[in-house]
Amino acid sequence: MNATVSDTRLLPTYPETKIGFVEGDGVWLTGTDGGRYLDFAAGIAVVSLGHRHPAPLAAAHAQLDRLWHVSNLFATEPAAELAAQLSARFGGAQAFFCNSGTEANEAALKYARKATGKPGVLALEGSFHGRTLGSLAVTGQPGKRDAFEPLGPARFAKPNDIASLYSECDENVGLVLLEPVLGEGGVVPLDPAFVAAAASRAHGLGALLAFDEVQTGVGRTGSFFAWEQLGVKPDLVTLAKALANGLPIGCLLVADDAVRGFAVGDHGSTFGGNPVSCAAAVAVCATIDDELLASVRAHGDRLLDGLAALPGVTEARGAGLLVGAVLDRPAGEVVDAALDAGLVCLTAGPNVLRLAPPLVVGAGEIDNALEILTEVLA
Ligand code: PLP
Repeated sequence: MNATVSDTRLLPTYPETKIGFVEGDGVWLTGTDGGRYLDFAAGIAVVSLGHRHPAPLAAAHAQLDRLWHVSNLFATEPAAELAAQLSARFGGAQAFFCNSGTEANEAALKYARKATGKPGVLALEGSFHGRTLGSLAVTGQPGKRDAFEPLGPARFAKPNDIASLYSECDENVGLVLLEPVLGEGGVVPLDPAFVAAAASRAHGLGALLAFDEVQTGVGRTGSFFAWEQLGVKPDLVTLAKALANGLPIGCLLVADDAVRGFAVGDHGSTFGGNPVSCAAAVAVCATIDDELLASVRAHGDRLLDGLAALPGVTEARGAGLLVGAVLDRPAGEVVDAALDAGLVCLTAGPNVLRLAPPLVVGAGEIDNALEILTEVLA
């Protein structure tokens, strides 16, 4: 089968692809054209330990040979172990497992509504929280929302604008939902002062504070959770993408002192907590140690400095290995040209190039990517 051929039996929700991929190894992909590609997209910040990393690979294989699925009517070791590991990383939390980022945010929306009794949500302009109707309602991008209005009650403040936050966040708000770094919205890191103001406003109004760490979590920014670098511990955290290194999983974490929402029957998911995904995720969590996180910070700085010096880059910003380069031209053209030259990367809005390589990337591969981008942007 040739994966590059457009399949007319798929609904056209994605643009036609130029190339397909048949194999991955670390930071490298093999294309259907037989070429080798440097992967600085990692499946949109998902394959964080690199393709076929031995730890989640072995854990998933072992679990496949043991037990695939029993549903949440019964306990399984991998889900219990993953919840325990995430609680320890968070500093005391309970977990609900689902299958994707948007489902994790749906769980957070329902949780906050039940816990506070308030329907309102304060999110940020430019934010992205997912494609299901609840998550879409709190996504601050009119282009993604407009065709599906009317959506639920949400207000949007400007990122890093405390006055806007205060004017948009009123007593109807039961949840303040923030991405520590707006990923799809242009790789915009939030200021610690803005996040502190959001926490104080939320708690002053009896609302919960949630961080959507679907993209920033699990080591991507150089700490296990991005909030560790912001100095504000949230009530709720959502995770997905990198948690199982490419197997489907999502998670809502609720801080121990915010556990007052769900009771039996309030929420559920047939596949949530799938033993194979959870076994892989346990191995991912065990692999993300202090040494790897230090390397994410160092390599992130190298990438950021290199990007800032490239022609056509007006600003380079980000956290750890979630990096954006603001361009003087459309980012889509640059992503296309880079792919032709053997580098897979992403956009984040019309003029921001987004790079999110596997966290195991080396200095040589970063320099290799920068050389390709130098030629593409020249
Ligand atoms: N939240 C954030 C911050 C995201 O970046 C994404 C996906 O890009 C989502 C939620 C939605 O995740 P999923 O596509 O797994 O539903």
